[in-house]
Amino acid sequence: MGYNFSAGPGIMPAQVVEQIKRDMPSYQGSGMSIMEISHRSALYTDLAAEAQQDLRDLMHISDDYAVLFLHGGGTLQFTNVPLNLAQQHHHVAYLNSGHWAQKALEAAQRIEGLQVDDVPSLDGNLPTIQDPQRGALDYLHITTNNTIEGTTYHHIPTIDQPLVADMSSNILAQPYDINQFDLVYAGAQKNIGPAGMAIVIVKRERLTDQPILSEIMDYRLEDKKDSALNTPPVFCTYAAGLTFKWLKQFGGVDAIYQRNQEQAKMLYDFIDNSKLFNNPVLPAQRSLTNIVFVTGDAQLDAQFIAAARAQGLVNLAGHRLVGGIRASLYNAMPTAGVTALINVMKDFEVQHG
Ligand code: PMP
Repeated sequence: MGYNFSAGPGIMPAQVVEQIKRDMPSYQGSGMSIMEISHRSALYTDLAAEAQQDLRDLMHISDDYAVLFLHGGGTLQFTNVPLNLAQQHHHVAYLNSGHWAQKALEAAQRIEGLQVDDVPSLDGNLPTIQDPQRGALDYLHITTNNTIEGTTYHHIPTIDQPLVADMSSNILAQPYDINQFDLVYAGAQKNIGPAGMAIVIVKRERLTDQPILSEIMDYRLEDKKDSALNTPPVFCTYAAGLTFKWLKQFGGVDAIYQRNQEQAKMLYDFIDNSKLFNNPVLPAQRSLTNIVFVTGDAQLDAQFIAAARAQGLVNLAGHRLVGGIRASLYNAMPTAGVTALINVMKDFEVQHG
């Protein structure tokens, strides 16, 4: 039995993959696969409406917010967010907590006439959120989980600025009060479904009718058209919908958060007691979903990654920018996967410790 520890595209629930297999030849007896159905047919509009409602249920999202299923992954939202939300003060701030936060910041900096403050978010090594106190901002952007660095904010303080969050790598892994945010976005391919889609949850009162660069980047128009202004990512929305149903059956976000905490603790505890493996992140900032560790020797790291791969534990290499080892424990990772990883680490330690 193999397990996928990739940071994204991440592991999907086995039941979801099985359901896709069953549906593939003929979705709901239509004679067409899910990839062929019309986005103007009830087959699609029903599944999209259900997926949206299930996400609303899981995250307790009221009608004050639009829930959009859009093309372009997390990266396109780096540009869409400032285009849509920086309309009043033309001034935004970004907490610069890691690689992806920096990418979001750089995308905003490309927009002409927008003042973008780069706010350091590390106190020593600890990511902190503080009010940058820069007068009225259109928003303060935070990245709730730093996928590459394996760090996270464990607490979102109340801040006197509208908050925007990139939750790409921990959406649905732990509960958040959506009402703390004016906008939340996430690429789908970690905790939700296949790559090729982003989810945007945005307070409707923030969407003005000023024209945006392109209609397809305009959240207000996409909301009006139920995310189908053009041909929407039908397969992704369908698969996301199955994942939402799976998560509901599991008991929802609180239940999966409990399991995620237990699984992360198993691995962190093992690393902390290991004489070979080391996690460089302070406990107070450790990610729930992306657990980074090293042996201190790049060659040994590579040997470990190969040894794990030989046991069916794949995609354990750290991001190419930082190297090392990274185990991503998204919602679909069963406890057996974490146990299997720890067993391989134990064996490797005996041989190389
Ligand atoms: N934000 C975060 C926190 C990420 O981890 C990633 C991808 N790893 C992105 C944004 C970019 O997402 P995408 O590849 O969907 O554009």
